Amino acid sequence: MNKIDLSGFKAAMGQYLRYVRGKKIEDASQKDLFNAVSSVVRMLLIDITMETEDRYTKADAKRMHYLSIEFLPGRLLSNNLLNLGIEKECRDILKTMNIDLDDLLNEEHDPALGNGGLGRLAACYLDSLATLDMPGFGYGINYDYGLFKQTIMAGEQRENPDFWPNRSSPWLLARSDVRCMVPVYGRIQGTEDREGEYNPMWVDWKLILGRVHDIPIAGFGGRTVNRLRLFSAWASEDFDMQVFNEGDYFRAVEEKIQFESISKILYPSDSMAAGRELRLVQEYFLVACSVQDIIRIYLKDHEGFDQFPDKVAIQLNDTHPALTVAELMRVLVDVHGLEWDPAWKITTKTLGYTNHTLLPEALETWPVSILKRVIPRHLQIIYEINRRFIELVKQRFPNNTRLVKSMSIIREGGEQRILMANLAIIGSHSVNGVARIHSELVKNNLVPDFYRLWPERFNNKTNGVTPRRWILSANPGLSGLITEAIGDGWISDLDQLKRLEPLVHDSVFLERFAQVKRANKIDLAEIIGETTYVEVDPDSIFDIHAKRIHEYKRQFLNVLNIVHTYLKIKEDKQIPGAPRTFIFAGKAAPGYVNAKLTIRLIHGVADVINNDPEVSPWIRVVFIPDYRVSLAEALIPGADVSEQISCAGMEASGTGNMKFAMNGALTVGTLDGATVEIAERVGLENLYIFGLKVDEIAAMRKHYNPRDYIENNPDLMRVMNVIRSDLFCKKDPGIFKRLHDAVVDFGDYYFNMADFSAYVETQNQVVTDYCNKKQWAERSILNTARTGYFSSDRAIREYADDIWKIKPFP
Ligand SMILES: *Cc1c(COP(=O)(O)O)cnc(C)c1O
Repeated sequence: MNKIDLSGFKAAMGQYLRYVRGKKIEDASQKDLFNAVSSVVRMLLIDITMETEDRYTKADAKRMHYLSIEFLPGRLLSNNLLNLGIEKECRDILKTMNIDLDDLLNEEHDPALGNGGLGRLAACYLDSLATLDMPGFGYGINYDYGLFKQTIMAGEQRENPDFWPNRSSPWLLARSDVRCMVPVYGRIQGTEDREGEYNPMWVDWKLILGRVHDIPIAGFGGRTVNRLRLFSAWASEDFDMQVFNEGDYFRAVEEKIQFESISKILYPSDSMAAGRELRLVQEYFLVACSVQDIIRIYLKDHEGFDQFPDKVAIQLNDTHPALTVAELMRVLVDVHGLEWDPAWKITTKTLGYTNHTLLPEALETWPVSILKRVIPRHLQIIYEINRRFIELVKQRFPNNTRLVKSMSIIREGGEQRILMANLAIIGSHSVNGVARIHSELVKNNLVPDFYRLWPERFNNKTNGVTPRRWILSANPGLSGLITEAIGDGWISDLDQLKRLEPLVHDSVFLERFAQVKRANKIDLAEIIGETTYVEVDPDSIFDIHAKRIHEYKRQFLNVLNIVHTYLKIKEDKQIPGAPRTFIFAGKAAPGYVNAKLTIRLIHGVADVINNDPEVSPWIRVVFIPDYRVSLAEALIPGADVSEQISCAGMEASGTGNMKFAMNGALTVGTLDGATVEIAERVGLENLYIFGLKVDEIAAMRKHYNPRDYIENNPDLMRVMNVIRSDLFCKKDPGIFKRLHDAVVDFGDYYFNMADFSAYVETQNQVVTDYCNKKQWAERSILNTARTGYFSSDRAIREYADDIWKIKPFP
C-alpha cells in the first residue's frame, strides 16, 4: 500500500468550502462536507491518474477499452477511501472536526447509470483492472436520468425520475479539451470518385458533439487510477449556424433539443431490446465517440495502423456496442484510407464480444430501414461485410442454403433486420459467455453454426465481483474478522479465503462469525423498519430474493412457497420449525405488466400475512423499495439464505449469487448460470440445489402441461386457487388472475409448476437445518472460504491473458 500524505487534508477541505462553496466550515451542510471530502480525495486521485498515465505511455502499453451502454458503479467515496488506503486516517481526521464519516457517505447519490447485472459487472471489472495495475478503461454514456427511482404506492411500483448530479458530482472530471464529432443521418451519394474508384460519399449528415467526463477508478492499494470515460450529447455550434442561417429558428432549436436528448435517459429495461430509434442513436453515439477517442490516443504515439491490434483491445459488453465493427471499418477505410482487407484484419484482431443472454426477446435486431436513415454509410459497410462473409461460408460449406440463412447478418422474410449478435461474432476474434454452462449454450444452442465455422473463437469467462466493494466495504464486520484470522492478503487475492476452512473447527471463530451475521441482521432489520414500516425479528431466517423482477427469475415461485407456508399454518395448523422473514427487492421494467403485477402480489401477500396474528410470528414478508447498489450493500451482509431460483438455462451467469455466497449466505438455487460453479466449489452439502436442469427442460418443453402438476398436487392446487381468488387483492378483485392464467392457461413458460414441489421440499429442509445453529455457521463459513474463485480479479486475469493480451504495469 502506497502511503498517501494527508497532512493537508483538513486545510484543503476548508479551502474548498470557502472558495468553491463560499462557506465557513461551521456553516457547511452535510452535503457540503461530503463534497468537500470528495473533492480532496479527487485531488489525490488526479495525481495518481497522471502518474499512472505516464507509466502506461512510457511502456507503450497495450490498452483495453471496455465499451458498455451501462455502468453501475455505486457510491464512490467509501470505495475510493478504502482503495486508496486512507479510510481510517480520514475517519480520524474528520472525528477531530466532529464529523462522522458514515453520515457523509450516506449523502452520496448512487450513480444509477445501469439497470442491473450487466452494468454492475462492468463496474466490478474496472475496479479489478485498476487493482491489477492494468491499462483498462471504461467507455459509456453520461445519462442525465439514470435508472428510475422506485417507490411503492398502495403496493404498486411507481417510477420517479432519477436526475443524478452529472454536472456537479465531485467524481466527474469535465474534459473540455477532448471532444468527439459524430456524423449522423444524411445520405450516400455516388459510388465512384473522379478517378473512377469505388468511393461512396456520405453527405448531408448532421453533427452531434460528444462531450467528455471522466470518473477516476482507483485500484486497491492506491498505485493505479484508471478512468471511466462518459460521453454526453451536444448539438455542435457548426450545426446550429447552418440551420439558423436557413432562417427557421424554431426548427433549429427543436433539432438542437432532439440531438441533446440522445444522452438524456437510460432505457429502463433489463433483458428486453428497446427497438426505438433513439436507442439505436445512443448505441451509435457511444460507439462513434469511443472509436474516435481510442484512435486519437493511439495516434499520439504511433504512426499508421499496422501496430493497432498490438496496442489496442476493445471489448463489446453485449451487442449494444456491436456497431463498433462497422464504425472501426468506416474510420479505417473512409477516414484513414486503408484498403478493405487490412482494415478488416485490424478490426477483427482488435474486437472481442461478450454475450450476456440467450433470451430471444433480449437479442438485438434493428430494421434495415432505421439504419438506412440514421447511419446510411454503416449500413453499406454491414452489407459489404455480410457479402464477403457469405462468400466464405459458401466456400467452406458448398450448397448449404440453411447455413447461409442462419449466419447472415441480414434477416430476410418480412421486414429486413440486422442481427447484432451475428455482426459482433463475425467482427470479433473472441466470443465469450459469462458462465461455463452459458458458454456451452452459446456454442451449442444459440449459434451452433458459427461454432462449427470458428470453434477457436468461442470461450468462457465466468463472471466475478469485486471483493473490495462486496466484502471489504459492504461488510466491515466480516472483513475485520477475516483479516484478524488470516491477515489482509485476501483483499487482493481472494483465493486466500481458503485459509478460513480449518477455522470451522474453532468454536471461538465460529461464535464470532455468527455474531457478525447477527449484527448485520440487526442493522438490516432497522433498514427494513425504516423503509417498509414492518418490524422483523433478527433471529428469524433472513431469506432474500433481490434482483430485477422478471418472470425468468421466478419471484413468482418464491411467492407460491410463501402462500403454501401460510396455508399450512392457517388451514392445516402446521407450524414451521423456525420463524422466517422473506425479503424481496427489485425493480420491474415500466412496461413489463407481469413483473409489475408480481410486485403487487408480493405486497398483497405481505399485507395478509404480516397482519395475521396467527401467522406473523412465523413468517413475515417485506418488499424493500428501490433496489440499487447501496441497498444491495446493506442487504447482502444480512442474508442467511440467497434465492437464485431462475428457470434453468435462462440466467446467463448472475453475480448476485456470488455476492451472497461470499458473505456467508447459503444458496437455494437451480443449476443455472454461475450457481452451477458455486455449487461445485462450496460443495453440495453447503447449499440447496433443486429443480429441473437445462436438458430436462429442453426435453420437456414440447409436451409440458402445467395442469398435470396442479391436478396431481393438492397443495399446489390449493395455492393456485388462492392466487386466483381475491384474498390478496380485496380492494382490486381479479387483478392476479393474469398471473394465474400465465401459468395455468398459457403454458407456464418458466416451469414454475414443474419445480414447485422440489422447491417447497428444499425450503422445508432449510428451516430444519437452520435450527442446528452450529452446523449452519460452519456451512456459512465454508461458503465464504470457498468462493474466492468468484473474484472479478480472477475473471479479469483470464480476459487479459486469453483475449486482450494486456499486462500489468505496477
Ligand atoms: C449484483 C447486482 C445485480 C445483479 O443481480 P443478479 O442476482 O445477478 O441478477 C443487480 N442489481 C444490483 C444493484 C446489483 O448489485
